[in-house]
Amino acid sequence: MRITKVRAVPHTVHNTLTGWKISTGGSDTHSLIFIRIDTDKGVFGVGVASPGQIFISGDTQAHCLEMINQVFGPAIVGTDPFDIEAIVSELDGLSKGVERAKAGIDLALYDLMGKALAVPANALFGGAVRERVRVTRLMGMYAPKEMAEKSSAIVRKGYTALKLKVGTTLKEDVERVQRVREAVGPDVTITIDFNMHCTPKEAIERIQKMDPYDVAIAEQPVKDTNLRGMALVRQNVRPLILADESVHSAVDALRVIENEAADVLSLKIPKMGGIFKVRKVAAVCEAAGVGYLIGTAPGSRLLDAANVHLAVSLRDLSLPCEIGEFERMGNDPCRGFEIVEGFSTPPQRPGLGVEVDLTKLDLGS
Ligand SMILES: [Mg+2]
Repeated sequence: MRITKVRAVPHTVHNTLTGWKISTGGSDTHSLIFIRIDTDKGVFGVGVASPGQIFISGDTQAHCLEMINQVFGPAIVGTDPFDIEAIVSELDGLSKGVERAKAGIDLALYDLMGKALAVPANALFGGAVRERVRVTRLMGMYAPKEMAEKSSAIVRKGYTALKLKVGTTLKEDVERVQRVREAVGPDVTITIDFNMHCTPKEAIERIQKMDPYDVAIAEQPVKDTNLRGMALVRQNVRPLILADESVHSAVDALRVIENEAADVLSLKIPKMGGIFKVRKVAAVCEAAGVGYLIGTAPGSRLLDAANVHLAVSLRDLSLPCEIGEFERMGNDPCRGFEIVEGFSTPPQRPGLGVEVDLTKLDLGS
């Protein structure tokens, strides 16, 4: 089987929870790219790239689109889609970084391979070691009272894990956690995400002041490069420390682990360049005895379907994963995949297993 054509098109979804912010910025829209890869056997796959907000990724939809259509796509035409190690290596040789564009190609290849063999995507990377995964839902940084109301609405849908964006003042951050805890009750797992907002000492003070409200995980309290600062926070607070912005690759994971900077690493398909590369980062974590979870990149059912295929395949996964944010996105061209009672189960149809409206995307029918 040979790849005959790679096409990528832009698509924008919008956040139905408007006014969403994190400590480094905010936007109510998410720019995505849908990618279709065709073969000489008539089988094709569809993937999605999430270029990310520019204040997080430093990248844009236009740049990722150009890289896929002008550079990566032409380079893989003529190759066997099952030669994924060779393809990933080829793309890395063509361009340093641009992992988010590469991830879209990786997803389209897994969709394609699954369809070619009539198996769900997770069967291509070892199969499922669990049936379903508990889902953590995210909550943007709003005023404390509003945040508590919005969080309650999510818990009422059956979710049992929440991640709260924080990172303004000490007083406001502590009040956010207090009000949400009071609103959702004692049984909900609460993570807080500073998105690098604090100095190490500020982070220690805030997390300690939140102690009465039972925070389970504190994510990226300090700047991505400050691994010694992360280690200092980790030594002085009770919650698990989760590294996100500090880890984009297996090499980063090794540095975080060497510095004893985190208890858990946030694995993300767009940030790390696709499922194939994420599983290599996961292997580093498993070797070191460090935890991991699947972190979010909001956008589409197609991406979260890929996320759950990956999550069920990870042997050491024990924490809930951020794989349900498609629920708050409008204009998703995908269907046939939903979260049930706070848990996600991978679609059993071949490939990623989601129905994509190709006509809407101008990618054929
Ligand atoms: Mg994060």
